[in-house]
Amino acid sequence: MPTLNVVASGSSGNCYHINYNDMHIFVDIGVSRYKIDELLEKENISDSEKILLFLTHEHNDHVSGLIPFINRYNPVVFSSEGTADVLKSKKIDVNDFFILKKDISYDFESISIDCFQVMHDSNEPLGYRLSLGEKAITFATDLGYASDYIEDFLKYSDIGILESNYEDELLKNGSYPAYLKRRILSSRGHLSNKEALGMAARVSGSKLKKLLLGHVSEENNDYALLQRYSDFATKNFGFKTHFLKQNSQVYRVEF
Ligand SMILES: [Zn+2]
Ligand SMILES: [Zn+2]
Repeated sequence: MPTLNVVASGSSGNCYHINYNDMHIFVDIGVSRYKIDELLEKENISDSEKILLFLTHEHNDHVSGLIPFINRYNPVVFSSEGTADVLKSKKIDVNDFFILKKDISYDFESISIDCFQVMHDSNEPLGYRLSLGEKAITFATDLGYASDYIEDFLKYSDIGILESNYEDELLKNGSYPAYLKRRILSSRGHLSNKEALGMAARVSGSKLKKLLLGHVSEENNDYALLQRYSDFATKNFGFKTHFLKQNSQVYRVEF
C-alpha cells in the first residue's frame, strides 16, 4: 500500500513523498536537502530503492532544493519541456530528464503517470495523477482556476492534493502589493478557498476518499477558517478532508 508524506506544502516550499514498492517518489523539491535526508532516514531507504522526482513547474517554492537533491540522490527526474528549458537556462543539467507532455499517459516501471495542464504563470506547468497499483493520487496545486478538466483527475483518484491558497477577503484587504494581489487572483495565479471548496463539491460521490487542501498561504489564509471548510467538506462530500499547514510535516498517510 502506498503511503504519502507531506514534507512541505505552501507558498514558502512544496515537497511530497510517496513510498511505494521499491520506489521513493517525490513531487517537487522546494525544501532543503537536510529535510530530505531526515525523511529518507525515517523511511529506512536502502541502496536498491529507486528515487523519482516529478516537477510541476520551475517556481522557487517547488525547485529550491533541486541541485543538492540531484547531487546527493541521483533521481530519475520528470518534467515538461518548458520546465526543463527554464532550469537549463539556470545552468542545471537537464539532459537526463524524462520530458512529459500534457494529456499523455506514461508507464514507468510499476507506475502509470497522467499529466495534465494547469493554468499558472510559469513555463508549461503540469499537474500529475500517479497510479500505483490499485491506487491513484492527484497533485493539483498552483492552479489559476478550477476547471472540470482537472476535476476528472481528482474523481478517479483515491487521494487528492488540491490547492486552497487564500481567502478572498484576507487577500484583498491584506498587505500584499497590488500587482501581487492581481497575480494571485488571476486565472494564472492561485486557487482560493472558495474555489477549492466548489471543486470539492463537484467531485463528491466519486472514487475520491481523501482530500488534502494544500499550498496554503501563510499571509492570506486562516487555519480556523480552513478547519471549518474541511469539516464541512468531510460532512457533506463523502471524503475525508484535511488542510495542510505550511510548516508542519505529515507522515505516512495511507491511501
Ligand atoms: Zn508557482
Ligand atoms: Zn507554488
